[in-house]
Amino acid sequence: MALRFFNTYSRQLEEFRPRDPAAHNIDIYTCGPTVYSRAHIGNFRAYIFEDLLQRHLELRGYKVHRVMNITDVDDKTIRGAREAGVPLSKFTAQFKQAFFEDIETLRIKRADEFPAATDRHYIDKMIEMISMLIFRGLAYQAEDKSVYFRINKFSDYGKLAHFDLTQLQSTGRVKHDEYDKEHIGDFALWKAWDEEDGNVGWESPWGRGRPGWHIECSAMATALLGDQIDIHCGGVDNIFPHHEAEIAQSEGVTGKKFVRYWLHCAHLLVDGQKMSKSLGNFYTLPDLLEKGYSGREIRYALMRVHYRAPLNFTWEGMDEARQALARIDEWLARLLETSGDKIDDKNVDIELGQQFEEALDDDLNISAALGFLFESIRETNRAMDRNELDAASANTWLNWWKRINSVLDLEGETDELPAAVAQLADERERARLAKKWKTSDELRDRIAALGWEVRDTKDGQKLTRRREAQSG
Ligand code: AMP
Ligand code: ZN
Repeated sequence: MALRFFNTYSRQLEEFRPRDPAAHNIDIYTCGPTVYSRAHIGNFRAYIFEDLLQRHLELRGYKVHRVMNITDVDDKTIRGAREAGVPLSKFTAQFKQAFFEDIETLRIKRADEFPAATDRHYIDKMIEMISMLIFRGLAYQAEDKSVYFRINKFSDYGKLAHFDLTQLQSTGRVKHDEYDKEHIGDFALWKAWDEEDGNVGWESPWGRGRPGWHIECSAMATALLGDQIDIHCGGVDNIFPHHEAEIAQSEGVTGKKFVRYWLHCAHLLVDGQKMSKSLGNFYTLPDLLEKGYSGREIRYALMRVHYRAPLNFTWEGMDEARQALARIDEWLARLLETSGDKIDDKNVDIELGQQFEEALDDDLNISAALGFLFESIRETNRAMDRNELDAASANTWLNWWKRINSVLDLEGETDELPAAVAQLADERERARLAKKWKTSDELRDRIAALGWEVRDTKDGQKLTRRREAQSG
């Protein structure tokens, strides 16, 4: 089956045809974090979907060039810096660093570039684009000195979101509380400086100010990837107005189709509602690590459902992830034993396990792909139970795993003891040396609640993952 994706623009499954089919190089632009606080795991659902997309394209032989922007200036970052009483760059630096730590823990491949909106080079590009939009009559400076995009002048406005613009129609100028726009749907390209901005601002032909969020992405995307991009991704909340605005701005400047395939992931939910900062129903990665879950368990939990289906976050789901990974670990250990503890690269069967890759070809159907993986595990385990799997076949399966694990990246690490568990284990060691048996037992229970089992051996404590997972 050919590789195909659901394109938000057409609302259809489309065969994937890159801009330059011969070169096998493709460009992906992904909207990155706004660094005003630590990202939550809902955000990471989006980044893990994008990681899966990149890795599958690479498995299929494409060379991917991916850009993820960092939004380090907007209303929220400015407000945060002001409240913390520190310069904007200092305020955002801590969250940038936390973001990079988190993507590493989740084994998300780093993008080739992480442009930051405040970089002078991109600010210049934004100013250049806005100037061109004004020149073309697609933008105007209003009485409040801010510059707005004139959506009525861009005939395709609303095509991505399938939005009926007549619902937004208005005649003449609409006086708004804060600003003076021609149309209620016109969005800011350049925000004139005001007192709240403090010392954040750049000089421009329209006076001191700062860019709007949407123009940041258009400028960074076209500066690094050119006028046309193969794939652009984000969560569904990015479709309108953010991505709609990106199309209007980029195409308004270049006159060329900006993006060939728009891919959007559904939200991570909590009790049926979007996990978000504003609702306060979110968990960060450190929250889950503290509860004893590992990076790869969280990765699995966020990855296992098709990206276009909403995924409900539950502790049961976390424990299912733990159990699923324990099954994979056990299976790999058995295969290794059956193969005589050596992996022979010669035992490769390209026909084996094709269903896994074909499922991913079908709009990244990860649930079907994992279903096939677990079916294969069941069958090979059965064969091993009956001593019917020879060393060469075990090796073939191990080589297959190596191939699909380049997409999944779910293999366990031996030293994966979470920091929270290690700390409790240290405390327990001290309690035992002090012969505080009650404390030691209590600590054992706390360690067990985090999913780990302690055994006391003559060489000291030994920690292993509990097969029965606990909820948090
Ligand atoms: P933000 O930092 O809010 O701009 O979000 C960064 C990325 O995370 C965007 O692609 C959003 O669409 C995505 N996102 C935010 N909340 C969720 C959620 N609950 N589930 C999935 N993706 C999300
Ligand atoms: Zn963006």
